[in-house]
Amino acid sequence: MNAAHATPVSSATQPGPPLWLLAELTYRCPLHCVFCYNPVDFAHTPDELSTADWLRVLREARAAGSVQCGFSGGEPLLREDLEELVAEAHRLGFYTNLLTSGVGLSDARARALKDAGLDHIQLSFQDSTKELNDFLSHTRTFELKQKVAAIIKDHGWPMVMNCVIHRLNIDYIDRIIDMAVELDAEYLELANSQYYSWALLNRDQLLPSREQIERAERVTNERRQRYGDRIRIFFVVPDYYETRPKKCMNGWGNVFLTVTPDGTALPCHTARMLPGLAFPNVRDMDVRGIWYDSEGFNRYRGDGWMKEPCRSCPEKEKDLGGCRCQAFMLAGDPAAADPVCDKSPSHDKVLGAVDRAQRGEPLLRERPLVFRGPEESRRRPKLHGEPIVVDQDAARAR
Ligand code: SF4
Ligand code: SF4
Repeated sequence: MNAAHATPVSSATQPGPPLWLLAELTYRCPLHCVFCYNPVDFAHTPDELSTADWLRVLREARAAGSVQCGFSGGEPLLREDLEELVAEAHRLGFYTNLLTSGVGLSDARARALKDAGLDHIQLSFQDSTKELNDFLSHTRTFELKQKVAAIIKDHGWPMVMNCVIHRLNIDYIDRIIDMAVELDAEYLELANSQYYSWALLNRDQLLPSREQIERAERVTNERRQRYGDRIRIFFVVPDYYETRPKKCMNGWGNVFLTVTPDGTALPCHTARMLPGLAFPNVRDMDVRGIWYDSEGFNRYRGDGWMKEPCRSCPEKEKDLGGCRCQAFMLAGDPAAADPVCDKSPSHDKVLGAVDRAQRGEPLLRERPLVFRGPEESRRRPKLHGEPIVVDQDAARAR
C-alpha cells in the first residue's frame, strides 16, 4: 500500500475544509535572504508544476472548500503564468494574495494583475536602510522596493508590508515603522524570525536578546500610539522566548494546505523534512483525497499521536503540542513536545540558544552568515526525511 494513501479519517473526526491554500509557485528567487523559509535543500527539487497542473489544483482546492489563495515562492513573479493563475483563482471565487519581494512588479505587470482580479499584495522589506536591506538580501533591491510600494498604492491595493525581524535589524524597528507609514502601508507585519530552514542555519547570528525584544515591543507600542489608525502594526515575538509553543498552523491539517513548486502537498511549508512520512503529490492525487485521506495529512491531526508530557497535559487543546518540525529539529522526534515548552525534556536546547543570544556579540563573529542561494543549497544534502537534529552546543564541541 502506498503510504501516502493510508489511514483515512473517520467521519466523526473529519476535519473542516482546507480554507487557506498556499501556492508556492517556485523556489527560484533573485534574493538571498539569510532567514529564508524555503527548504535549505530547495535546489534538489525537481521540475515545477506546469500551468495546467496549477489550474487544476486551484479548481480542486476550491471544490474542496478553499476560500483564500496565497501565491508565494521563492519569487512568484518569476512565473510568467502568474496572471493566468490569479485570473483563474479570481474566477473561482478565491480571495487572492500575492506575497512578493517586489522584484519583477513593473507598472505593466501590476496593471495585468489588477485586471486579473488580484485582491491583495504583501511586500517584503529587509530593513529601513538601503545598506542593511541590500546586505541581508545580498542584492541591490531597496530602491526598487520603494518604487514597487508606490506602484502598489497607485493601483489601489491595500498594502501589507512585511519585515522579518532579527538581531541585526531589531534595533532599527522605529525607522522600519516610520518607513512603512511614509510609504502609506495599511498594515505592517513585524514578524520575528522563526528558526527554520536558512534562519536555523543562522540562528546564533539572528536570535535577538531579551533586552532587544523588550525594547522593540516598547518602541512599537509608542509608534502605535503616535500613528493611531494610520497603520495597523503586528509584532510577533520569537517563540524561543516563550514557555509555551504556538498552535502551529492552527493545528496540523486543520486549515492550511501548502502545495510546493514540485506539487508536494504539505500541512505546513517545512513539513517535508519530517522522517517516515510520505507526503502526497498533486500530480498523483486530487486535493480532496490529499486533505482527507492521506497519511501525510492525518498523522498529526488532533491529539491521538501525542506522547508524554503532552498526552496527559491539561493545556493540550490550546497548542496541540506545538510545532512538529521544531520538535524534530530540536528533539529529534516529530511526535515529541515542541522544545519551546518548558515541560519538554528538550527545553534546554531552546534555553541554550537563548543563553548564547544573551551573551551576544563575540559569538556573532564565530561563524559567517549563510546566504540562501542555489549553489549553497546544492552543497547541502537532501534533507527530506533525514535526521537533522540541531544541537549547536554539541556541534560546537565537535
Ligand atoms: S525570504 Fe528572501 S530569498 Fe527567501 S523567498 Fe523570500 S525574498 Fe526570496
Ligand atoms: S506539554 Fe505539550 S501540550 Fe502541554 S503545554 Fe507543553 S507542548 Fe503544550
